[in-house]
Amino acid sequence: MKESEILFLLGENSYPSISFPIFQTSNFKFSSVKEFKLAIDDEENSLIYSRGNNPTLTVLAEKLAALDGKQKALLFSSGMAAISTAVISLVKEGDKVLCMEGVYSWTQHLLKNILSRFGVETHFVPYYNIVESINEHYSLIYVESPLTRTFEVVDLEEISRRAHDVGAVVIIDNTYSTPLRQRPADFGIDVVVYSASKYTGGHSDLVGGYLTCDEKLYSRIFNHEYLTFGGIMSPLDAWLFLRGLRTLPVRLDRIEQSTWKIINFLQHHPAIEKIYYPGSISDEQNKIYHKQMRGITGLFSIQFKRKDPGLINAFCEKLRFFRMAVSWGGYESLVLPYTMWKETEWDGMVRLSIGLENSDELIQDLEQGLKIFTLE
Ligand code: PLP
Repeated sequence: MKESEILFLLGENSYPSISFPIFQTSNFKFSSVKEFKLAIDDEENSLIYSRGNNPTLTVLAEKLAALDGKQKALLFSSGMAAISTAVISLVKEGDKVLCMEGVYSWTQHLLKNILSRFGVETHFVPYYNIVESINEHYSLIYVESPLTRTFEVVDLEEISRRAHDVGAVVIIDNTYSTPLRQRPADFGIDVVVYSASKYTGGHSDLVGGYLTCDEKLYSRIFNHEYLTFGGIMSPLDAWLFLRGLRTLPVRLDRIEQSTWKIINFLQHHPAIEKIYYPGSISDEQNKIYHKQMRGITGLFSIQFKRKDPGLINAFCEKLRFFRMAVSWGGYESLVLPYTMWKETEWDGMVRLSIGLENSDELIQDLEQGLKIFTLE
């Protein structure tokens, strides 16, 4: 199915309203006991209670699954709710998980500190060792590609092939790319998880998440972890998400154009040592990037020649359009100073998220901020 078909038509025939209604209801009613009983016996395909199904979420989920080339999608109250539910639904006591180093910090926390309490052990390996490390001891492989600090990518086709050879399932966090810049299903990935709080929602006004998978796994998760944990998206957030999703292609095109222009400007600036974005760090990485991604989005890191945290903090505070905040992928540009954390591997770095502002104005802002490095 084509992009516009999915974003503007799919699932929207039931009502004459142009904007799909918000079903702000917890409960659904029945006119006969027989009808009620049939629904209770098949909650997965029925409207009973909004912890299970709600029409606003259903139409959104249909679109998200189609965009990802998967059969089904499940919506959650945050990206972490989607990730925790996906992971927990795929492991049991005694299982071993193989995970890439550098995945989102709360995902690491889930694997290292929470699942370990229930007898599930996780081995973390660097991105360049993940393919070779896959073997029959692991039942779940978890990757995030690109990573969202230094933007390394991994070969998804190779990972799926090896994992499936040993009977393991693969989950990817595809939040950076969105379905429009990378479709993991095309490379055999089993479960795709997203924070909708980033580009897919896109307006910094909702916290949400989702996963996409095949019908069989959907049924399993829906009838167990989804209904039990109850970390569902609210109808109002689903409606906001639906509204944001329609403009995703337009937003990403503008963001990508601005991002290349800004990277090009920064690459030639005397204060900058290095820029990290998908495919940037080696020829091998560039090959993987071209093989599986259809472009970049607006998130990248820069390393300054002068690593003085005082100067870096002053740079961040001098910027006008780039707000200092954590959750990227909205309409506004952001700067995240890594000086806030102790890890020395990120010395002298900040992460930028490019928003929808005029790119020339963003460059002017960066230019005035960067003067702090060349003043003395
Ligand atoms: N995955 C990535 C790559 C993220 O950056 C984040 C949030 O920052 C998450 C997952 C978690 O999403 P949420 O904040 O919606 O729970």
